[in-house]
Amino acid sequence: MEILIKDQKISCEYISRKRKTLEIQIQPDGTLRVLAPKGLKKEKVLKTIRDKEDWIVNKIQEINSRAVPGKPEFKEQELHYGFGNARALSFISAPENKKLAVDLKSEGFVLSGRDFHKDRVRSALEEWYRFQTEKRVAYFVKKYRNSLPRPAKIQVKTQKKRWGSCNHKGKVMFNWKLSMAPAWVLEYLVVHELSHIEEFNHSKNFWALVRKTCPRCDEARDWLKKNQWKFQRFD
Ligand SMILES: [Zn+2]
Repeated sequence: MEILIKDQKISCEYISRKRKTLEIQIQPDGTLRVLAPKGLKKEKVLKTIRDKEDWIVNKIQEINSRAVPGKPEFKEQELHYGFGNARALSFISAPENKKLAVDLKSEGFVLSGRDFHKDRVRSALEEWYRFQTEKRVAYFVKKYRNSLPRPAKIQVKTQKKRWGSCNHKGKVMFNWKLSMAPAWVLEYLVVHELSHIEEFNHSKNFWALVRKTCPRCDEARDWLKKNQWKFQRFD
C-alpha cells in the first residue's frame, strides 16, 4: 500500500504478526515496513506513523541523497531507481544463468547470475529498464487509444536530453530510463507525446488537451524537474 506523509507518497509494506510492539522500519530502498501486532487497530497504526512523520521523512531523504555518490559503481547495496523509489542492488549466485537476471522485489533489485562485473550489471539493469519502459508505454498508449490520437510507431531508445519526442509522421519516442520514474509520471509523458500528434506545439490548446487527459500533469512536470539528476547518473 501507499501512504501519504507530508505530501509524499511512500510505499509501505504492512506485516501483521504475533508480536507485542509496533515497529516502523525504513528499508534501504526508501520504503516503509510496518510490523504490527495482530489485531491492532488501523487508527492506532496510522497515529504512530503520524507521530513519527519527521523521523520518517528525514530518514528517507537521507537514503535518497545517499543515492547520489556521482557515477554509480554497480556494486551490491548501491541504490538505483525503480518506479520512483531508490532500491538497493543485491547479487545472488546462480551459475546456471549465462546472463544476469534482474528482478525487482520489495527488498530491491535482485540480480542472479555468475559474473557481477560492473559492465554486466549495468547492461542487465539497462535491459530491465528498457523492457519495463516499453511495457508501460504500450500499456498507456492502449489506455488512451480512444481519447488521444494513435501513434504511427512507438520507440523506446536512448535519448540524452529528452524524456520523449514526437515527429510529424506521428512516431513517438521515449527515453528508456522512464521506468526509473513513478508510473504516473511515465503516464503523463505518454499523454504529452500523444497529444503532440494532434497539437504539434506547446500552445494553450496543447496544454489544455494534456491537462484534460492527465489531471496530474503539473505534478508530473514538477517531479521531472526535481528528479532529473536521478536519471543522469546512469549516463
Ligand atoms: Zn512537448
